[in-house]
Amino acid sequence: MKTIVVTGGAGFIGSHLCEALLTNGDRVICVDNFVSGSATNIEPFRANPHFAFIEHNVCEPLVIDDHIDQVYNLACPASPVHYQRDAVLTLETNVIGTHNMIRLALGAGARILQASTSEVYGDPLEHPQKETYWGNVNPIGVRACYDEGKRAAETLCFDYSRQRGADIRVVRIFNTYGPRMAEHDGRVVSNFIVAALRGEPITIYGDGSQTRSFQFVSDLVRGLILMMNNESFIGPVNLGNPGEFNMLELAEKVLRMTGSASDLITKPLPSDDPRRRKPDISVAKKELGWEPVVGLDEGLEKTIAYFATVV
Ligand code: NAD
Ligand code: UDP
Repeated sequence: MKTIVVTGGAGFIGSHLCEALLTNGDRVICVDNFVSGSATNIEPFRANPHFAFIEHNVCEPLVIDDHIDQVYNLACPASPVHYQRDAVLTLETNVIGTHNMIRLALGAGARILQASTSEVYGDPLEHPQKETYWGNVNPIGVRACYDEGKRAAETLCFDYSRQRGADIRVVRIFNTYGPRMAEHDGRVVSNFIVAALRGEPITIYGDGSQTRSFQFVSDLVRGLILMMNNESFIGPVNLGNPGEFNMLELAEKVLRMTGSASDLITKPLPSDDPRRRKPDISVAKKELGWEPVVGLDEGLEKTIAYFATVV
């Protein structure tokens, strides 16, 4: 039985990861400050003797008086609405928080997996995005607290690996959706589904021609665990579903699948909103034998069924 720390474990992805690790028979120590996650997400695990929770802001150093094998560092709000609310805190979480979690892992002789993001590619000039692409990021824009923060976090991981012997893994996660996304998360999949189920207008930012590649959360969690347990490949590796859809197509799918009569309305495109996004996953296929298996229709069906029980 491994002892595994999951920071951000009360969030959307983190709670699915905690669940999968507990199911695998591991011991999980979840660390979260509920800035964008919720106690409800981890409620089902509270009674499990192999689950422990520490309420903690990763921007403060963390001491865990226990043997630790692995640290998954997921702590950071992921939705633009949440990460822009307190941009300085987001940057601190990514830089100081990641620094603290690398030091926790290093001190414990544990491996750390850093949850990075497709946002390191910014508004990409290369399409689809390969891990070798260095990105096109506005360093002073409204998304920079997240994009540049995650880029600096990757730098910290690789410098700690090269110079101080940290055992790191870095994954670049593309847009992920599924049950347990917060109703007010603000990202496109939950916004569209919640609006459609309530019969409220669906809001398209810009003309809706911008694209994203959406991966279902179970595919991502499988990839995270494969990467953490890979003995030779440290990354970075893209984890995403290469299916590419524009926001109008997504809205039409959600309307059709919910049977909703919601209107489509438009709002201005937020600043620095990337035009296109699609992962090249050949590295994940080769190094991890990983590729997504849940298509958008199947994943949306499960996500709609979840939101139908909560909204
Ligand atoms: P989320 O907001 O649901 O979860 C993030 C969790 O981290 C929350 O529970 C939050 O309370 C916690 N947290 C934030 N700051 C913290 C701090 N300073 N100290 C302790 N806990 C803190 O988001 P998510 O979608 O589950 O994303 C999880 C991770 O995956 C994030 O690091 C995010 O950047 C990364 N990621 C997600 C996506 C996606 O599409 N969901 C895409 C790329 C990368
Ligand atoms: N978006 C939208 N309506 C919404 C929420 C988002 O049209 O209600 C757009 C947003 O401008 C972006 C895309 O959908 O172009 C994906 O946004 P999200 O916040 O989900 O993820 P990110 O931009 O971080 O990839």
